[in-house]
Amino acid sequence: MAKNKHIPLRTCVSCGKKTAKRELLRIVATPSVGIVVDSSGRVNGRGAYVCRDGDCGSDGLHRGRVEHVLRVKFEDDNWNELTDSIIQFVETSR
Ligand SMILES: [Zn+2]
Repeated sequence: MAKNKHIPLRTCVSCGKKTAKRELLRIVATPSVGIVVDSSGRVNGRGAYVCRDGDCGSDGLHRGRVEHVLRVKFEDDNWNELTDSIIQFVETSR
């Protein structure tokens, strides 16, 4: 008999740690609007996750790895935009 309630775990693309989904920030590659930070967790598309705490969403975030997980190629502008919005989101959710 399982006593523990099942908690969905996701792997951070930055540090590789497995964490509860709500501790992570979801980045989604959407067909319509491109790469977005999904604060609601309801956006459809391929998702990548980074820790909300620490440097995973900023300095620790590796472009090539995110591209690999989302199966996209970033333009420099897109990448900068994405990291900016991640950093902004992390700061405002603290
Ligand atoms: Zn992490």
